[in-house]
Order: sequence, then structure tokens, then C-alpha cells
Amino acid sequence: MEPISRRAALKRIFAAIAATGASSFLTFDDLVAADRTERQAAAGGDDPRLNLIWLHGTSCSGCSVSLLNIEYVPVVDILTKFTNMIFHHDVSLATGDQVTDIFRRLKGSGLPYVLVFEGAVPTAMPHACMLGHRMITEWVDELAEGAEACVAAGTCAAFAGVTRMNGMETGSMALDEYLAHRGIERPVINLPGCPMKPEHLVYSVLHYAHEGGPPRLDDRGRPMRFFSHTIHDRCIYYSDFQENYFAEYIGDDGCLLKLGCQGVVTRNDCLINGHNSNTNSCIRAGHPCIGCAGEHFPRRIMLHTYDDNRPVVRQFQQRSQRQTRGGSGGGGGQ
Ligand code: SF4
Ligand code: SF4
Repeated sequence: MEPISRRAALKRIFAAIAATGASSFLTFDDLVAADRTERQAAAGGDDPRLNLIWLHGTSCSGCSVSLLNIEYVPVVDILTKFTNMIFHHDVSLATGDQVTDIFRRLKGSGLPYVLVFEGAVPTAMPHACMLGHRMITEWVDELAEGAEACVAAGTCAAFAGVTRMNGMETGSMALDEYLAHRGIERPVINLPGCPMKPEHLVYSVLHYAHEGGPPRLDDRGRPMRFFSHTIHDRCIYYSDFQENYFAEYIGDDGCLLKLGCQGVVTRNDCLINGHNSNTNSCIRAGHPCIGCAGEHFPRRIMLHTYDDNRPVVRQFQQRSQRQTRGGSGGGGGQ
């Protein structure tokens, strides 16, 4: 790969920042200044950047993977221009005592920091997530208490999500729910999504670092910029819905409501900001929204549940099987 100039690299970083919507409050000159600060800090100078600690509770790491997969430039390059990422489970080389030393030094310094938490808090099984011989609940108590604010990254952190579905015995709680239960009052920015959209995290953290506080939030702590509308409000099939033109099977034309679409009750911006740098989204790909960013995800009955015997689901499964075998899956509805 050909080497590129620092200015060209900064332009790429700014393009990625603009794609998250953060150019509404950040200019290219701000990025150039932040780049200078980062280099001065690396050379031992003052480091005024916002400190970030990223911890995992019960999670699959999908939100971190989603974040690290952001295209064009490494996401760490974006974040480290404006923040000092003290620790991230998947990115940092430090382990065990090294990590606890880092936390101790940060707390001793009295410098402000933001705690990003991925996954839920397993209150009935806190030993499931250990760090430096301490349970995750102890770390959350200590680090959230001292944080300026917390970010709940993904549906498990924001609403407990998959980790609280039927049959789970972890006693998982969403981060804000756990903090309230422990009497710890800290602002929490909720970024639901399974996985979380990297753009939501980058935008929110840059807003905090540059503007000194969270973006405007709704009553569930979600940034209004991304969560003020339902999927349904901006759906490409909205006119089909109004005209009662419904798809009968996956791949059919029309609104996906009869196939269990949760877009009517799910707030997210997937139809204007799709996955993988807006390459696609569930509905654009022809699949109903399963409500992954919703407060009640995962629902007890979803199309993925193979013991769901509703006729519409059986029909969908039979169609899918026929299509997989190259049979007569296409055509009109039934
Ligand atoms: S496909 Fe879903 S989100 Fe789109 S119009 Fe139909 S019900 Fe609404
Ligand atoms: S369309 Fe629905 S299920 Fe798909 S990512 Fe968006 S909120 Fe999640």
C-alpha cells in the first residue's frame, strides 16, 4: 500500500467523522488541532483529551466488532484524536494486574473519564466476568461512580437484550437499571442495537469530548438524532403498508408486517444509516426488522424461533426450504 500524507489521512478520518453526523459540531480545523494535541501528548506533553474506559459485561463482543469494522479508517484512529482510550478489552494489550494498575492510576489522577460498557451486568452470576480477581459488578460500582458519564454500547447494555431472554439465569440488568439499583447516579447514554451502530458510538463520544456533554437524549437515554423515529416512519415499504400490500414470504414484494416486522415499534435509523457503512439494512435486504434495538428484544416469538407454529411462520419456513432447494419459492402470495 502506498504511503499517504498526514493531510490525506486526516481527510479520510474527517470523511468518516462526517459520515457519523459529527461534522455538525466538528470542523476539519478541529481535527487538525486534535491531531496536533495527540502528537504532543505522545511526546510527553499535556494531554487534555477525554479519557475513555471500555468494559465488557455479559456480551458476545459483537458491538466492539461492529465498531472496529467501521470502514475507510481504523476507528481507533478517529477516537484517539479526541479521546485517550485508556483500556478496551479487545484492543488493549494490557491484561490482569496491568489493567487494574491503569485504573488505579487514572482514579488517583482525578482526571475525568467516561465509562463505555458493552453487555449487561450479570447480577446473579457476577463471577462470569472477572477482571483482576474482581467481579464485574465491583468494577462497575467503582468505575461508574467516578465517571463523568457512562455509555451503554448495544442492546445488552442499554436494555439487557439477549442476556435477559427466557431461560437465562445470569440476572442480567441493563447498565442504567443496575446503577439505579445500586443508588449510583450517573448520566447514561443508551446506544441500543444488536449490534450497536459504530456511527452512533463515534458520534456520541465525539460529542461528549468536543461539546463537553452528551447529545440530546430521549426519555430512555437514546440520542434523539438516531432514535427519534421508528423504522416504520422512514421505511421504503411505508406506502405499501398504507395500501395494504403485504409480502407473504421472504423475498416477496410489499410491506413485511405480516412476516412479523417489528419496525412499527422499534426506534432506530437503519433506513437512512444502514449497516457496514450504509451498504444495506435488514428491510432493504428483504427481511423484516426483528426489533434488535427495541426495549423488548429478543421477543418470545420471532421468525427465528423454529418451534413457533403460527401459520404465517410455518408458511415462511416451508417457502424458505423450497427456495433453498431451488424449488418453486418465487411468485405471488398465498
Ligand atoms: S416493512 Fe415493517 S417497517 Fe416497513 S412499512 Fe412494513 S411494517 Fe413498517
Ligand atoms: S432494521 Fe430492526 S432488526 Fe434490523 S438493525 Fe435495524 S432495528 Fe435492528
